[in-house]
Amino acid sequence: MKPLNSILSTTAVTIFTVMSALAVQHDAINLGQGFPDTEGPADLVRAAADALFDGRNQYPPLVGLPELRQAVSAANKRFYGLEIDPASEVVVTSGATEALASCLAALLNPGDEVVLIEPLYDTYVPVIRLLGAIPRLVRTMPPNWDLPRTELAAAFGPKTKAILLNSPMNPTGKVFSADDLAFIAGLLAQHDAYAICDEVYEHLTFDGHAHIPLMTLPGMRERCLRIGSAGKTFSFTGWKVGYISGPASLISVVAKAHQNLTFTTAPNLQRAVAQGLAKDDAYFTGLAMGMQERRDRLGAGLEAAGFAVLPTHGSYFITADFSPLGFEGDDIAFCRHITEHARVAAIPVSAFYEGDAPRHFARFAFCKRPEVLDEAVARLTAHFRRNARL
Ligand code: PMP
Ligand code: GLN
Repeated sequence: MKPLNSILSTTAVTIFTVMSALAVQHDAINLGQGFPDTEGPADLVRAAADALFDGRNQYPPLVGLPELRQAVSAANKRFYGLEIDPASEVVVTSGATEALASCLAALLNPGDEVVLIEPLYDTYVPVIRLLGAIPRLVRTMPPNWDLPRTELAAAFGPKTKAILLNSPMNPTGKVFSADDLAFIAGLLAQHDAYAICDEVYEHLTFDGHAHIPLMTLPGMRERCLRIGSAGKTFSFTGWKVGYISGPASLISVVAKAHQNLTFTTAPNLQRAVAQGLAKDDAYFTGLAMGMQERRDRLGAGLEAAGFAVLPTHGSYFITADFSPLGFEGDDIAFCRHITEHARVAAIPVSAFYEGDAPRHFARFAFCKRPEVLDEAVARLTAHFRRNARL
């Protein structure tokens, strides 16, 4: 039989699925795949449920329900002072994952180059390759994840079509500074390139590190496609509702990609998310504060268990160096080991790099109930204490 698509048939099952399955198999606490273990706001569940019963269950408009596009526009204005026309500058998608694919499909022709910053989310590179475009990877490294400006500038060239920028960043928790963003904006202007901005963790920043959309910088309004996710903002990762904001000239082509991928997104969920985006500021600050407390709780626990915990200023994730524990083996072996023997699952950070990568860091999700975080820490502490004695 003839071979199937060469990129997809050689793509591994995502590490998140692999580690979640291993966690189930070993009855481990899953601090691997990033999803909250509590429900999001009850009024939004009620709104989504009610919306199923009032006769609007047929195809919603291609670009999204007007009430959600209006809410996305209002949120852009409220949080960032951005003026986004709800009629022509928003597309609602089935999660940020589809938003990313739609934006990439809208911008790229075969042979175009896309600049990306490692460590990175695992759907970016395969989608770029599927489109026949070429990823140009620039690395940030632990413990500081500093942006290597000379290398970043060198990655841009005449074939550069876009940068794909994730801030706040998974898995590092890095929140790009105004200075870094200004540097990136300068490169985009110089090379006439676009930016796809994966901002799914926009409302999950800590310690006063404000999230700054690249789109708010001078000259960037016309070059950026900004992606948000209801999964992260309302703690409903299974809903898969995403939204893209951008200039009408780009959004009109993004809509064509969306038309060919999914065409629409469940209308009841769109209506609930519209209600969510209209919540008062206290909801959004409360979300970040609650998550910051969990970060502190898990961070302190891991530190006490013997890990060297790296600072994280945003997202659901903390990264930790496990080398002080004396484990012999790389991060993949470590994450398997703790899942099987300490019954706590984590994600190896090397999974977020192509090829050679740092091998002694694990990513832990702290978007879990405090008692679950405490139990995970207790298990890890007991396990490594026991092993130290052996
Ligand atoms: N981007 C990043 C950086 C993520 O961590 C995730 C994970 N959920 C996504 C995109 C995908 O978001 P969604 O679930 O809305 O598709
Ligand atoms: N974004 C989630 C994470 O980084 C995973 C999403 C998925 O499993 N596709 O853990």
